[in-house]
Amino acid sequence: MQRVVILGATGSIGLNTLDVIGRHPDRFEVYALAANRSVDEMCELVARHSPKIAVMGCADAAQALKDKLPASGVTEVRSGEAAMVEVAEHPEIDIVMAAIVGFAGLRPALAAAEAGKRLLLANKEALVSAGSVFIDAVKRGGAVLLPIDSEHNAMFQCLPSDEFARPTMDAVEKIILTASGGPFRGQLREQLHKVTPEQACDHPNWSMGPKISVDSATLLNKGLELAEACWLFSRTPSQVEVVIHPQSIVHSMIRYTDGSVLAQLGNPDMRTPIAFGLAWPDRIDAAVDPLDLVAAGQLDFLAPDLDAFPCLRLAMEAIALPGGMCVLNAANEVAVAAFLQRQIRFTGIDQVIEKPLDSVSLAEPSDLSAVEALDSESRRQASEMVAQMSMAESGIGD
Ligand code: NAD
Ligand code: MG
Repeated sequence: MQRVVILGATGSIGLNTLDVIGRHPDRFEVYALAANRSVDEMCELVARHSPKIAVMGCADAAQALKDKLPASGVTEVRSGEAAMVEVAEHPEIDIVMAAIVGFAGLRPALAAAEAGKRLLLANKEALVSAGSVFIDAVKRGGAVLLPIDSEHNAMFQCLPSDEFARPTMDAVEKIILTASGGPFRGQLREQLHKVTPEQACDHPNWSMGPKISVDSATLLNKGLELAEACWLFSRTPSQVEVVIHPQSIVHSMIRYTDGSVLAQLGNPDMRTPIAFGLAWPDRIDAAVDPLDLVAAGQLDFLAPDLDAFPCLRLAMEAIALPGGMCVLNAANEVAVAAFLQRQIRFTGIDQVIEKPLDSVSLAEPSDLSAVEALDSESRRQASEMVAQMSMAESGIGD
């Protein structure tokens, strides 16, 4: 029996994880759930899964949860980041699903890495921001880091594993990272000026949380994923190629030196990579519809349009700068939040990101406090840019 902690339990990845776990009560037991402020959702999850511990982001939310739960319950309610860190490194647990959105998930994910857990990584922002600090923690702790991002899960599945060490990683010529292109694929930049948060979050293939949905719409998500692939599989950016694949059926590919290209295919349903991560090296039922290739009919592949989607170009530039992806990620989190609150336009997101990339003094962070300092300085500069832009703009959404 594997004991599981789900960080970000009330989100899209968290709920999909609980769905898969719920189908395999013989293999997995929910030990702890953590979320930020969604008290009603957490209350339902606690009633259904009876975890030993439920952690909320702040004391008020934890109190509200306690008030809602029956006094006779088995679940201890706690709050704050330190409590999330404690459950992530707890000796009684085996698996940590890191599915908090954004930089906020870094410390608990690092704790799981240092404690040598099986770490299922959905929270790409943590890895991309902390880079070598994150990978070093995984190595030091002896953690098993399994990517949940569908593309990286696909890469993992198509790459040579240690057990079958031929062909080796040396024979990997290119990682082909696929992208759906998001809801605005095919549009020109001038057509994107007035798009709303609702349109940006209306992804054609995937149902996801608002932040990653906006990242998919700007293609910044693919920039984060480019860096994620480099860290996970020890590649350089030039060894990763981004290809638009609107159907989201081929989740990524690996090209070998002999010309072979291995792909992983499946319906766009996150329960596939989640089930893979939970059970690896076994395979378990994830209740995903079987892929019907005849119904899909066509699989298309195109080059990304870096003029219409400058966020991807910015990410490709940032990845070459020391600490560049930490800066880019922090500024993007500020920009996306401002766009979702209608403070800036969709086409303002890249402008907010560019500002700190140009002005923060860049250096590769060597430890967690350096990562946090770079992140907060970048946020400060990005917030200044948002303030200037929202003063200059009025009537956004008109
Ligand atoms: P979401 O917005 O649906 O859920 C986010 C979860 O994180 C919620 O449970 C929320 O309560 C929690 N949370 C937010 N801020 C927190 C904080 N400060 N402290 C503690 N908990 C906090 O997001 P999602 O779509 O599930 O995405 C989660 C992560 O997985 C992101 O990093 C995203 O990039 C990645 N991811 C998601 C998908 C997907 O299909 N949704 C696919 C690939 C990768
Ligand atoms: Mg992805």
